[in-house]
Amino acid sequence: MLLRLSRQLSISKKIKGRYLSTTCNQFGLHKLGIYKPEIIHHNLSYPELLRHEQKNKEGTLMKCKYGDTFSIDTGKFTGRSPKDKWIVKEVDSETDSNIWWGNVNKPISPEIFDDLYTKAISHFNSLDECYLFDGYCGASLKSQKRVRFVHELAWQQHFVSNMFIRPTNKSELYNFQPDFTIINACSVVNQDWKEQGLNSEVAIAFNLEKKVAVILGTWYGGENKKGIFSLMNYWLPLEGVMSMHCSANIGQDGDTALFFGLSGTGKTTLSADPQRNLIGDDEHGWDQDGIFNFEGGCYAKTINLSEDNEPDIYKAIRTDALLENVYQNEDQTPDYDNVSKTQNGRVSYPIYHIDNWHRPQQGGHPKNVIFLTCDAFGVLPPVSKLSPGQAMYHFLSGYTAKVAGTERGITEPEATFSACFGEAFLTLHPSKYADLLQKKLEDNQSNAYLVNTGWTGGPYGVGSRMSIKETRLCIDAILSGEIEQADFTEDPVFGFQIPVELPGVSPKVCNPVHAWDNSDDYYHQSYKLAAMFQENYSKYTGEGVTDYSQYGPIIKRDVFLK
Ligand code: ATP
Ligand code: MN
Repeated sequence: MLLRLSRQLSISKKIKGRYLSTTCNQFGLHKLGIYKPEIIHHNLSYPELLRHEQKNKEGTLMKCKYGDTFSIDTGKFTGRSPKDKWIVKEVDSETDSNIWWGNVNKPISPEIFDDLYTKAISHFNSLDECYLFDGYCGASLKSQKRVRFVHELAWQQHFVSNMFIRPTNKSELYNFQPDFTIINACSVVNQDWKEQGLNSEVAIAFNLEKKVAVILGTWYGGENKKGIFSLMNYWLPLEGVMSMHCSANIGQDGDTALFFGLSGTGKTTLSADPQRNLIGDDEHGWDQDGIFNFEGGCYAKTINLSEDNEPDIYKAIRTDALLENVYQNEDQTPDYDNVSKTQNGRVSYPIYHIDNWHRPQQGGHPKNVIFLTCDAFGVLPPVSKLSPGQAMYHFLSGYTAKVAGTERGITEPEATFSACFGEAFLTLHPSKYADLLQKKLEDNQSNAYLVNTGWTGGPYGVGSRMSIKETRLCIDAILSGEIEQADFTEDPVFGFQIPVELPGVSPKVCNPVHAWDNSDDYYHQSYKLAAMFQENYSKYTGEGVTDYSQYGPIIKRDVFLK
């Protein structure tokens, strides 16, 4: 009886010829065009999320050493779909003139966006229930944004609850006015993509003027997180605040360090340091007060994860964390070495799952800025010191390397250059971020280093990957300041300073030429990589941008291309 009455009440209002459920009205969803769902699961607690995930049969519970952890598969897509990202181009609008249009930010017309939008909301208007999360992005109140997510699955809400800054008080949720809303209709496949001139059935489409985005056709959790990151990369620099694809931690003396790097270079692994407190593992801002995390959680890779090598991350995998695309053994335990689902198995967890997290998620101006690269050519030293000009050159280059295949000995590494170590998420021209960083580094006299977490002693297939232990020793030497006591030599090709040796790291490891069997082979490879740097950098030498090319490799291209 009570139930029937409440149902009657909930459809009592009629707007534009449609019935508006009381709950949609209460949360303001009708302003987005969502009228129908009568039950809205708003910011569920972790135990509630688990109940929903299990009731909806969205995944399984895995027996992990530190607690049972819910685990889901994201289906066809186990990584982001960068080619399916679109931004509405409203001719002559403010966003039109600000945005860095091109392959990263591809324009769509307001009409196509409206089509995609209608598909997303029609889907929600066919549902009785949906999930609504309200939270924040950015730990500094001066630039914090209020973000809202509409989801059809409980695990998707679980993911954003892990990743974004969670409201701590119910009263914050009352009359929440979002700065931006993402409507994630992951199960809707856009059949009309060809006629619309899009790339595939998947679409991640942003409308900055309307402050709303839709996701169609992909269930990958990272789209939610990186979607908002792209927006922070738009809003913050326009407010004069630097936004960065980097991790950050803070030492016992309050010194902070940043670790920039592309995917798989070690931001998450290396920022979780037992000697230091974690500020965040992936996205940060830098304003006049210092640095701050955008997020409220971490998103770690699980491939080959072991308690020995990465104890903090391993222990963070416990109840309330969420495993994605991780192989499950028959006894319901996870198998992190089995990559048959994907190499990109992940776990998201709220940041407090790391024991030594830094509660304010903010810190002072960084004393050290580290650029991580995973050099599969085996050329770059495990650590080198950069001059301010070299720092800018490497920031704009954003180099790392991928290993194309997995067969030993026969695959060539593939170089990736991605501006600002995160080109896929830049919404403004790379020089905007470079100018901001240059000023920050100069004003705060921060030291800059390049750390190679990739191969040594030869390229992929011949040499070996730097051990996490050795990389940590190099980073320890930077953060303790001991590196300043070392003798340095100049790299004859790249021009940066290489320490001769460091505590626990022998000269053979410190200088890669000694780690290779044959120094001619080494230099041949080094020139090859240098040529790729120069080739890539030529796009930053045009008019209107500061030219840092003189800080790149110092051997002329035509000499070594012969
Ligand atoms: P993303 O942006 O995708 O989150 P990330 O920069 O955070 O990427 P990590 O998750 O830290 O990258 O991944 C680094 C991977 O490389 C981990 O799986 C780690 O175990 C492995 N690894 C192997 N050797 C090293 C090393 N010497 N230093 C750092 N990581 C290493
Ligand atoms: Mn990471």
